[in-house]
Amino acid sequence: CGVFGVIGVTDAANFVALGLHALQHRGQEAGGIVAYDAENGFNSARRFGYVRDHFTKKSLMETLPGENAIGHVRYSTAGNKGNTAIRDVQPFFGEFSMGGCAIAHNGNLTNADTLRKELIERGSIFQSSSDSECIIHLMARSLHKNHTNRIKDALSRVEGAFSVVAMTRTKLIGVRDSRGVRPLVLGKIGDGYALSSETCALDIIGAEFVREIEPGEMVVIGPAGIESSFPFERNEPRPCIFEHVYFSRPDSILGGQSVYETRRQIGVELAREAPVEADLVCPVPDSGTPAAIGFSHESGIPYGMGIIRNSYMGRTFIEPSEQIRNMGVRLKLNVNRALIEGKRVILVDDSVVRGTTSRKIKEMILDAGAAEVHFRIASPPTAWPCFYGVDTPEREKLLAATMTAEEMREHLNVKSLKFISIDGLYRATGIKSGRDNAAPKYCDACFTGEYPVEPRDQIAKGFKL
Ligand code: 5GP
Ligand code: SF4
Ligand code: MG
Repeated sequence: CGVFGVIGVTDAANFVALGLHALQHRGQEAGGIVAYDAENGFNSARRFGYVRDHFTKKSLMETLPGENAIGHVRYSTAGNKGNTAIRDVQPFFGEFSMGGCAIAHNGNLTNADTLRKELIERGSIFQSSSDSECIIHLMARSLHKNHTNRIKDALSRVEGAFSVVAMTRTKLIGVRDSRGVRPLVLGKIGDGYALSSETCALDIIGAEFVREIEPGEMVVIGPAGIESSFPFERNEPRPCIFEHVYFSRPDSILGGQSVYETRRQIGVELAREAPVEADLVCPVPDSGTPAAIGFSHESGIPYGMGIIRNSYMGRTFIEPSEQIRNMGVRLKLNVNRALIEGKRVILVDDSVVRGTTSRKIKEMILDAGAAEVHFRIASPPTAWPCFYGVDTPEREKLLAATMTAEEMREHLNVKSLKFISIDGLYRATGIKSGRDNAAPKYCDACFTGEYPVEPRDQIAKGFKL
């Protein structure tokens, strides 16, 4: 998911709509905005589908007046996955004795089932199937006299990944869990401020990137300026390494690194680790593009667009039903026959999850007359599900959970298949010594099975570490 908020600008909801549009790659199922205005109070709108199809309409935006607003784009990783109801669409809103508060959450809580059960037993009435709704109910149970302390209370009870943007009548609040799994950044716009999942959304509204919210930090932006605190138990940061590989936009700056440059460097590392003689390096667009550029540069093998993407399709993976995902590959990608005919082709993609994309693409490339197909993958084999906000399927559906690299190669029926090593991936992010196995700098659980936060709910459901 993506979160965005602004305070202290005229027509804040319009800025949020623009910010969410720039974060659309983080979630395409639905979007929502809550705005506040002293005269009109809190107003909200939630819609299925793309931000640009709804939150650009004058009639809708006029219902969201005010100088403060927050918003969310949804991609379901918990609750009713792939079956989003409008009541699951964030931001969530609660009325408290000290005034209303809206909350938008990116990440996944690993103890949400436990909390929900407990809260329901004690009288909370849940409106949605979302793990994030727990936060509002926990706030309601807190005895503190102000929102900020109630948010602290609530977030010290939840476990897992959260980057939260919240809004009261006078304040914009940003919080990141103590490991900083999901990103969150601060920007300045005129006399106001913005909070965003990624810097690319600051660029779109002309805000200046100030800094990242630190893992475990809470910032409260109000009339008194910015207050920062670290209210939770401190932990070693473990930001998601997959944000660098796939999730974030390449024009964002993440952990002080250009996402594009990291991806290009992954391609360089891959070319060093797994060279192969071939005639052409092709990205699987768009997610494989920067790595393919790096691979071509390092290997000296020409780069070409052997696969053309229809830009009017969303990300296939994020279409949650199997059937749609299967068709999705063909709706979205087509082979550039004239370029690849007779050539030995290296295809570069970011990841292999179920193997659906890779298998389809390989068929398309061979049908179009390629002499050989080699796969080079910009992440290590995805052998474990993510419980922190990326929707990987159950373990059994992950190709790498049940097959060795050689079995995967056979299954995909390609000449060669190589994944970047975990050390190579760390090197590409700028950690030259590779992964420090005693104290890894990132969350890399989907590749290593080492979960920085115990997936409590999943273990209760029978998941085995
Ligand atoms: P597969 O087709 O193997 O199941 O999925 C791999 C494709 O899904 C890649 O092309 C990758 O770009 C895309 N993808 C989209 N979202 C995700 C995600 O959340 N996780 C992973 N690992 N891949 C994703
Ligand atoms: Fe990121 Fe993978 Fe960790 Fe999930 S498990 S937070 S995708 S590195
Ligand atoms: Mg892809």
